[in-house]
Amino acid sequence: MADSFYGEVLADHNLHPLHRHELADATHVCKGLNPTCGDDIELHLDIKDNIISDGSFTGIGCAISQASADIMLELVIGKTPDEAKHLTALFRKMIGGEISDDELEELEEAGALQTISKMPARVKCATLSWNTLERLLDESTHEH
Ligand code: ZN
Repeated sequence: MADSFYGEVLADHNLHPLHRHELADATHVCKGLNPTCGDDIELHLDIKDNIISDGSFTGIGCAISQASADIMLELVIGKTPDEAKHLTALFRKMIGGEISDDELEELEEAGALQTISKMPARVKCATLSWNTLERLLDESTHEH
């Protein structure tokens, strides 16, 4: 059951990505690379008044890296950078196999990627966009 949910979510976000496009108003851009698999993405965020008001990604990569980026953006758009960092920490805990049920709920659809915790070879694909997000947010905080 968990695995078919994973398959459906993955397919849905690859066939109909909501956030895979350029973002003309982006205030922040950050590249992420996973050479192991060849995933190469660019994350674009529009951060205004301490809210991630919009976001998108471009680039190429496998189904897992692309779906993970799309799901992540769906989750963090409308949140503050601190909330987004909190969700990134939860996503890492999930992939590390040490997340509680309550925490898993906070991840909403991203919880479908829990299956990756049992697929060590794909961990870098799933975490690429989240690592890129964290780096972008760290850099944006240091600007002030
Ligand atoms: Zn990949």
